[in-house]
Amino acid sequence: MCGIVGYTGDKNCVPVLMNGLTALAYRGYDSAGLAVWEGDSLTLRKAKGKIENLKNLLKESPMSGKSGIGHTRWATHGEPSDINAHPHTDTKKTLAIVHNGIIENYLKIKEMLISHGCVFASETDTEVVAQLLGYLYRGNPLEALKQAVSMLEGSFALAILFADDPKTIYCTCKDSPMVLGHGDNESIVASDIPALLEYTRDVCFMQDRQIAVLKQSGIEFYDEFGVSIQKTPTHIDWDVESAKKGNYEHFMMKEICEEPDTFRRTFEQYVSIKDYTLKSDRFPWNTARAKSFDRLTIVSCGTAYHAGMLGKKFIEHMANLRVDVEIASEFRYGDTMLKNGEPFLVISQSGETADTIAALRRAKELGCETMAVCNVTGSTISREAGSVLYTYAGPEIAVAATKSYLAQIIVLYLSALDLAQKRGEMSQEAVTARLKEMSRVPAAMQKILDNKEQIQFFASRSFAVKHVFFIGRGMDYALAMEAALKLKEISYIHSEAYAAGELKHGTIALIEDGSLVVALATQPQLQAKMASNMEEVRVRGAHVLTVTNGPWEGAKGHSHTQWEIEQMDDTLAPLCAIVPMQLLAYYLAVQKGCPVDQPRNLAKSVTVE
Ligand code: GLU
Repeated sequence: MCGIVGYTGDKNCVPVLMNGLTALAYRGYDSAGLAVWEGDSLTLRKAKGKIENLKNLLKESPMSGKSGIGHTRWATHGEPSDINAHPHTDTKKTLAIVHNGIIENYLKIKEMLISHGCVFASETDTEVVAQLLGYLYRGNPLEALKQAVSMLEGSFALAILFADDPKTIYCTCKDSPMVLGHGDNESIVASDIPALLEYTRDVCFMQDRQIAVLKQSGIEFYDEFGVSIQKTPTHIDWDVESAKKGNYEHFMMKEICEEPDTFRRTFEQYVSIKDYTLKSDRFPWNTARAKSFDRLTIVSCGTAYHAGMLGKKFIEHMANLRVDVEIASEFRYGDTMLKNGEPFLVISQSGETADTIAALRRAKELGCETMAVCNVTGSTISREAGSVLYTYAGPEIAVAATKSYLAQIIVLYLSALDLAQKRGEMSQEAVTARLKEMSRVPAAMQKILDNKEQIQFFASRSFAVKHVFFIGRGMDYALAMEAALKLKEISYIHSEAYAAGELKHGTIALIEDGSLVVALATQPQLQAKMASNMEEVRVRGAHVLTVTNGPWEGAKGHSHTQWEIEQMDDTLAPLCAIVPMQLLAYYLAVQKGCPVDQPRNLAKSVTVE
């Protein structure tokens, strides 16, 4: 699930691999290691904990060579330890391997290998692949790999160095991403794009069970039967700088500060700025099709699920179309009411979220018309969905999604407008007026960012809080769900989102002196109702922080602290109000000394079930 890097070329591979692992560190990991061909043997260095520990080990016992593989591990089978860290080898050390993912049938294969005399050193499922390859190897790496792949169940991205062919790296994958590029006399593979950007921006994505053979002179691709295939590279227009931290202390803050730009970039992809009209052919439905829907199903996970919840509110409100939103891990094994031909939309930043991919495939089997909102060109979801609404957030490095969430809700908002226009629910003039209003949002966001010290100050006084409840109604409730997730994932403060009217049906029992309740109240038509809910928690000892769309005098008696975003159309306010919520989570996490960009136990793209 975490980082793989492999290199063969005319440079010393050790710094290249270490830079690559550092570029992928954002994905979260618990140990790191390298295997390098040192001229006459495969040398391994592995260390539990941060990449820094591996760096120190390399200072004590340096190594160098022109080909090697590296890994940051996020333990699934066996505790984080030096021994369980990758790379793993077979007993005879004919090869070294790094692996992302989970081999589901590893026990069965392990038993078979033990009965043939294999002795295992680690508890990992990965070592089973190493030993299996060693067992199958008869002098032809490609042949051994082909056979091994046909036996493996589960998810895997594998990079392998064979001692008999040490200048070549062999790779394969299933349900776990791998991306490859050829630079100047060098070939490189990684599990995610940022590790490649220094070397090339023309990259090839591997598809399930394909095999790649990387040599200094180029990369050969084979299908699962070993037949040679050609692949056309995808050009990645992210620049190297955007994947670096610059002067910011954390990627998360950098990415929040990039939100006004993300807004403009994504907006301009779907809206013609000269006359504020939608580029209607950028959306995957024409007028007849948009009118024919009775229902749209949205499926996603985590932050993208929350984007889907807000998208539902936008689409139901503006386009008068029923939207069902479901969590991908529930959808994939649940009963489904989906019918052949129905529209089905998935949302995923990385395009590699395992449960979302499975949901997409299930919908395709059921004959649905599939669509995706996705940030990564060439990713599995963008390749497999019938059509893609891209977000233009650029690389997002912090584990906690910020600008990618924003880009997702912008695309969903614009989709709602487009559906509304095509379904005859909104006139062209009304859509244009809304788009003009929408173009003001980045400036309103910038204002919040320019005054972020106010939020920092609030956080400096509140970081000891034990429980935070985010409440809201309608669109604000969908927003509250994301605000609560952001806070818990990076600050480890217990937080929950509640539909404001629901709190009194049980959860209000948890409110006590010192609880923090964040009341999202950007929807004027619901403010009177919100005021009652704020009062209910205030009188029970909660500190009430209210976020409003422009001034709201009515909040005064019921809340202790009030943050205003610039007054705008009610439907647009959630797009702006997420910024102070992300900043609040950030500053509370910083105050508590948490590792903001790489929170414990989390990984950036969840490529396992
Ligand atoms: N399942 C493997 C292990 O636990 C790989 C984990 C990963 O994706 O980092 O070692």
